[in-house]
Amino acid sequence: APPLVIEGLAKTYKNGFTAVRDVSFTVERGMVLGLLGPNGAGKTTVLRMLMGLIRPTAGRITAFGAPVGPGAPVLADIGAFVEGPGFLPHLSGTENLRLYWAATGRPADEAHLEEALEIAGLGDSIHRRVGTYSQGMRQRLAIAQAMLGLPDLLVLDEPTNGLDPPQIHAMRDVLRRYAAGGRTVLVSSHLLAEVEQTCTHVVVMHHGVVVATGSVEDVIAGG
Ligand code: ADP
Ligand code: ADP
Repeated sequence: APPLVIEGLAKTYKNGFTAVRDVSFTVERGMVLGLLGPNGAGKTTVLRMLMGLIRPTAGRITAFGAPVGPGAPVLADIGAFVEGPGFLPHLSGTENLRLYWAATGRPADEAHLEEALEIAGLGDSIHRRVGTYSQGMRQRLAIAQAMLGLPDLLVLDEPTNGLDPPQIHAMRDVLRRYAAGGRTVLVSSHLLAEVEQTCTHVVVMHHGVVVATGSVEDVIAGG
């Protein structure tokens, strides 16, 4: 089964505002798929539904053949990054990740930890106190945290927020390296250039609906 199938997804919030309507797309293995749209397009709403944080008003989400959402068991093969989490500044990068893993109740897997840190490209800084990290390094650490169990589907909501262009460019290597070997990445962004640089495929959202889907070449370059 594909890593992710979204069918007829809709969300109307309690205040009556419909943020997402009739969204359907499929994410195939090995894709780095960019969910692209301006602020307010509904990207975060879609990602929060697929992480089971909020309940869809309509539609269906299936990850690796299993239903996703509130009430469904959280799938171990989905890793998610929503916003820069609060790391403890007086601990090192590795110490923060070990602590996070201990808090999830999973046994620490040193091989996974090393691979996640390696892909995130933190280098020797992982042994320094997080309090000394730049914004870009914190983002990389947050992404390493989402990668910890080496989930088959990695979901990242605007991971490059606050990064400068060279750091955004470096993110391309991080995400492509993660997807190499059959893993899959779903990443949201409001920057077309960033999706063009980073992703293999794109779903474009506007005012809560999908307005284009396809390979980055077809949708953006061929645009
Ligand atoms: P639901 O209808 O899924 O129960 P809620 O209306 O309870 O969702 O809101 C969920 C969360 O989103 C709350 O923490 C709320 O503060 C926040 N929220 C409310 N309105 C907005 C908005 N316009 N944009 C972003 N977040 C919002
Ligand atoms: P994006 O991630 O693309 O910026 P969002 O999914 O955060 O878009 O928001 C889509 C729309 O839904 C926005 O107009 C936002 O104000 C609204 N919204 C988000 N959360 C809530 C909420 N809890 N209650 C009401 N409206 C919300």
